[in-house]
Amino acid sequence: MNFSSQLLEDAVNEFSKLPGVGQKTALRLVLHLLSKEQEEVSHFGNTLIRLKEEIKHCNICHNISDHQTCSICTSVKREKETICVVEDTRDVMAIENTNQFFGVYHVLGGLISPMDGVGPSDLFIDSLVQRVATRPVKEIILALSANMEGDTTLFYLHKRLKDFQIPITTIARGIAFGGELEYADEITLGRSIITRVPYEGSFIK
Ligand SMILES: [Zn+2]
Repeated sequence: MNFSSQLLEDAVNEFSKLPGVGQKTALRLVLHLLSKEQEEVSHFGNTLIRLKEEIKHCNICHNISDHQTCSICTSVKREKETICVVEDTRDVMAIENTNQFFGVYHVLGGLISPMDGVGPSDLFIDSLVQRVATRPVKEIILALSANMEGDTTLFYLHKRLKDFQIPITTIARGIAFGGELEYADEITLGRSIITRVPYEGSFIK
């Protein structure tokens, strides 16, 4: 791309560093911002600067928070004895959106991935073990992605946590809601059969 302005080029280069944003999209976004009022653009820029400068990670669950301890960990309505272990903040948001979980979280900050050089010590695993060792916990739910990294992490966490003799569960991995069986890949379908659960109200001997 040939730019008529160095400032324009710099801005486009910054935007195109974002995931999924190519140079054309970056140019469109920059020109859009340029067409806005000064005040609006300043607000946009300041929001990003404040985000990075002021954001905190909860000192209990490591979720992104405005305070030292997040609103979920401080809420009196949440069951502190049920901990749901997730990869990152997006998973917390996804589970919160279901309105089905009333416990608390532990955000690992990633998954174990030897291929990418991510080992257990790069994640908040020691602090999870510490948490389980020092507070009463009734159940640990491991809600991790159904892929190689998720399985490796699951295996490692189980090894670290099993001596506490606390029930450890994983989320059922199966067919996506609205998904049709014939379009599910065989791994998903296979897991769905292995991890089958009793149908509500049915009699299981
Ligand atoms: Zn928290």
